[in-house]
Amino acid sequence: MTQVTHVDLSELDLDRVPEDVRAICQRLKERGHKAYIVGGCVRDLLLGKEAADWDVTTDAKPEQVVKIFPRVIPTGMQHGTVTVLMHGKHYEVTTFRGEGAYSDGRRPDKVEFVSDIVADLARRDFTVNAIALDPNDGHVIDPYDGRKDLERHVIRAVGVPLERFREDGLRVLRAARFSATLEFDLDPETEKAIEPSLDVYKKVSQERVRDEWVKAMKARRPSRAFDLMRTSGILAITCPELLEGVGMEQNKWHGYDVWRHGMECMDGCAGDPVLRIAALLHDVGKPRTRAFSDKTQDWTFYEHERIGAEIADPICQRLRFSNDERARIVHLVRNHLFHYTSEWSDASVRRFIKRIGTESLEDLFALNEADVRAKGRDATPDLGALEGLKAHIARVIAQGAALSTRDLAIGGRDLMSELGLLPGPIIGRTLAALLEEVLADPGKNQRDTLLAMAKKLVENERGEAGGV
Ligand code: ATP
Ligand code: MG
Repeated sequence: MTQVTHVDLSELDLDRVPEDVRAICQRLKERGHKAYIVGGCVRDLLLGKEAADWDVTTDAKPEQVVKIFPRVIPTGMQHGTVTVLMHGKHYEVTTFRGEGAYSDGRRPDKVEFVSDIVADLARRDFTVNAIALDPNDGHVIDPYDGRKDLERHVIRAVGVPLERFREDGLRVLRAARFSATLEFDLDPETEKAIEPSLDVYKKVSQERVRDEWVKAMKARRPSRAFDLMRTSGILAITCPELLEGVGMEQNKWHGYDVWRHGMECMDGCAGDPVLRIAALLHDVGKPRTRAFSDKTQDWTFYEHERIGAEIADPICQRLRFSNDERARIVHLVRNHLFHYTSEWSDASVRRFIKRIGTESLEDLFALNEADVRAKGRDATPDLGALEGLKAHIARVIAQGAALSTRDLAIGGRDLMSELGLLPGPIIGRTLAALLEEVLADPGKNQRDTLLAMAKKLVENERGEAGGV
């Protein structure tokens, strides 16, 4: 539910604008230009929130801007953007731009510079993002009543919503994203315009979609964006796999359907956007593995974590997550399910640590905690088990036993020099097999013991390959 906090816009505090930003605007004005801060930073300033980045807009042309400031990066001169460097920080200074035609629904055909700030504000997406402010005298330019919408907590398109959404298909997703990050509702006309714009949304590049997903993850409850994406048809285009869980009843362990559980889990994983994507996708394999057990008279989801990882991987590829991000997400989905009990031996815990990797444990614990809290059932027993596992892991790590091949008393070089092995997959295979032995019995992590074991392993392998 929207948390209604009274927004008193009269308390606008210009001291919260960085000195450098005011200096940039002042310098432009001294040279006879108009200059304002605009967009997200003005919106956040008026809301009393921390602004992400400070964007300056001016009627000075990019060629003029680069002459006015000593240190600049000509970021996107043809789009009107120059990055001004001050005290090691970057500030984007963009020339007022008019409404270019968008024949492809993706980007304007050409950028047209204008001399009027109102024309620049007219091409912006939402009224709350279309306010300009002179950071030196506090003068506000707000031709589309953005401040009123900030007070009402409403996202409303600038101008005719359907036209604006059909110009740039990404805007429908931005509407959903801002509704989550600002915790605002969509104005009814704006919301109505989403569905008839979906054919244009389809053409938007996956990178732009991914950026909005990541930004949505900064919200207190990103589920607000994803619920809107679901009901408006956006998600059916970008990630239909997630819709399979909508309304899908689970079992006695769960109070929510698969979709709602994913939403709660994502909301519960604050902090890192990539971790939140993993939470969003962690049960994506459930719908395709659901089966009714006659024995328990309840639904089961065997291997949903394995199938889920297979589904999550191409989703991450499609959305152009980096290889590292994709690997992290898929690894978490693949391993999110574990049932620790105090009966686990030290060797089982060592195998668990090896499988997860020490560097991923913290992520997995955060995901697990959110997962069990998101079941809509008493989470106390599961949280107790998680604490038990954490404590057991700490004990095992303190014992200093080997947990990865890097910790073994011998390495690939030893295998080559002592056993005459040639570089190749056999080295990795042998080390992995040695690690399994050492995980079971850390006492075996001695150079001579390992070399003797390695010798046997290699002989066996050669025998199998050569024999029969
Ligand atoms: P955040 O604080 O999350 O960065 P923001 O409002 O600054 O939010 P940006 O994506 O950084 O969002 O864009 C900066 C400004 O540029 C917006 O406030 C808006 O005025 C304008 N803008 C950005 N993308 C679009 C778009 N697709 N269509 C129209 N205007 C846009
Ligand atoms: Mg921004």
